[in-house]
This record gives sequence, structure tokens and C-alpha cells, in this order.
Amino acid sequence: MKTDVICLGELLIDFVSMAKDVSLIESPGFLKAPGGAPANVAAGVVKLGGTAGFIGKVGDDPFGLYLKQVLNQLTVETSCLALDREARTTLSFVAQRPDGDRECMFYRHPGADMRLAAEDIAEDYIAQGSVFHYGSISLGSPSSKAATLQAIAYARKHGLLISYDPNLRTDLWPDPEHAREEINAGFAHADVVKISEEEYRFITGCTTVEDCGRYILERGPGLVIVTLGKDGCYYTNGRTSGFIAGFQAEVVETTGAGDAFVAAVLHTFAERRRAGSTVQDEELPAVLRFANAAGALATTRIGAIPSLPTQDEVLALLDS
Ligand code: ADP
Repeated sequence: MKTDVICLGELLIDFVSMAKDVSLIESPGFLKAPGGAPANVAAGVVKLGGTAGFIGKVGDDPFGLYLKQVLNQLTVETSCLALDREARTTLSFVAQRPDGDRECMFYRHPGADMRLAAEDIAEDYIAQGSVFHYGSISLGSPSSKAATLQAIAYARKHGLLISYDPNLRTDLWPDPEHAREEINAGFAHADVVKISEEEYRFITGCTTVEDCGRYILERGPGLVIVTLGKDGCYYTNGRTSGFIAGFQAEVVETTGAGDAFVAAVLHTFAERRRAGSTVQDEELPAVLRFANAAGALATTRIGAIPSLPTQDEVLALLDS
């Protein structure tokens, strides 16, 4: 059987300060949160009942082994997740500073994810997939960028639907201008782009979602989705466009909402492809309503992976 969604990119551990409004140095302790946006999407797809695989690299160290185990326990396929003896698993330490800013310190000496290389990408593995999804940070080093472009080339060759979420985490990119350049170049490879309201102005220079949609469509993708937090999302494919209202949620913490949303969209597209059909223009609002429900549910629980909803939970919210 085909893998529904193959994700490529960063897999890391965020150590999130247990106390709010203190600097990192004053933090009394940290909670361990495994994640990385593309890995969260893979986890989201399996929680919705699909199949997913993850391509990436972690250090051959206790953190890397832990991350592999987390994905395996979720039944995300990890045969293309490499353990690198020469590098460390990427770790980040995150705190909310007293002035309200997010403080993030990075431990990457050197980060294994940035050492993913073109020769690590197995054509056979990608060939058996249905949808390929990637994020931006893998475009951040020459080696991981070559690996990402190689994977995209295989995905294109074998007819996978290609999805891209820039997911601009400024703390992961030392140089924001470099990030903007790479992300803009990254649009050209994708069929589907999800971008959030928080990031599109900086990345595209547009001031409205409609302009952002046009801007990205001009660069190649066939569908652009702009997520709007509690307000849901906007979509356009050039033929049809619109706003899809969000769901009311008792928000606890919003980490992972965008990844739950992407997982829901890609899960639906992959299901259709498995059945030998595609999502029609008039069905897009229902697909995005399903994704809004998944995103809303992810805000009601703490953490990224633990907050990802199951198919039953999403359907229950849609029916409520
Ligand atoms: P990201 O997490 O990538 O920054 P958003 O914050 O826009 O993206 O969230 C993604 C999706 O999750 C939204 O389109 C929406 O469907 C849902 N969502 C996010 N925040 C909320 C919220 N406060 N209430 C309800 N739904 C939300």
C-alpha cells in the first residue's frame, strides 16, 4: 500500500520553560516537546487514520533515538529517518521573557537535520507515496537544500501531489532575509501552499490575503491557503476562492494548530488519490472546514503532537 503523506524536514525537541514570563536563565525547568512542523504533520495524518512517513536526520544520541521512538509509537514510518553519528539532534530552549517576547536558544553543534544530503533521499521510497510535504528550514543549509530539491524532483517524477508550508520560525533562521529568499524560491516547486496570516506579509510583501493568494499562484502553485487563526482560512486556486469560517475553541495553547490543519488537508487529498479521484473546486470549502475543525481542536490542548486530533474528534466537532 502507498504511503499517503511523506513529510521531509526538521525533527527536534523544544524544551519549553515551565514558568511563564521568566527568561531562560531564570526558568525553574523545562517540558520536553518533540516536534518540528513536518514531523507534526506526519503525526497528524496518522492520527486522522492515514499513513505517513518521515524523511530527515537526527543525531545518533539519546534525543535522536527518543524522537525516532516517538514517531514509531505513533506509527509514522521512519525507515528514511537517518541517525547521524557526526552530528547532534537539534534542541531548542524556549521561554516567554518578562517583556512578552519569545526567547529561544538553539543547541545545534552541528545540527543533524541540516546535514540531510541528496544521497540520503531514496527514490523508491518517494515513488510509493501519494503526497509529499516539506517545510522551509530544510532549505536553510546547502546540504539539506540539495536533499529537499532531490526529494521534490523524485516526487514530481512519480506524480505525487507536492505541498509546502513555509512555517517561518524566525528563531530557526539566523538571517530573515535569507529565509525570505529561500521561501519565495520554494513556492515554485509546490502544488499546494499553506501560509499563515502572521508570516505572509513579511514573506510576500502583500498586505491582503487576496493579493497574497495571487502573488503565490503566480509563482506556480495551484492552490494557496492562508490560515487566519480563530477566523479560519482563505483559499484560492485562481478559479474559485473564499473565506472559510473557523470554529470557536476554548484555547489552551495554539502550538500545532497549523500542522493539524495541514495534516487534515493532506489526509483528505491523499484519501481521494487513493480512491483514484481528486478534490473538485466545489468541494474545497468542505475540505477546509474539516481542516479548520482539526486546527481548532489542536488549540484546546498543550503541545504540538499531543494536541493533534483524531478523525472522530474532528467529525464530532463538525457535527456539533
Ligand atoms: P499557524 O499555527 O500555522 O500559525 P494559524 O494560527 O492560522 O496557523 O492556525 C491554523 C488553523 O488552526 C486556523 O486556520 C484555524 O482553523 C485553527 N485555529 C488556530 N487558532 C485558532 C483559534 N484560536 N480558535 C479556533 N481555531 C483556531
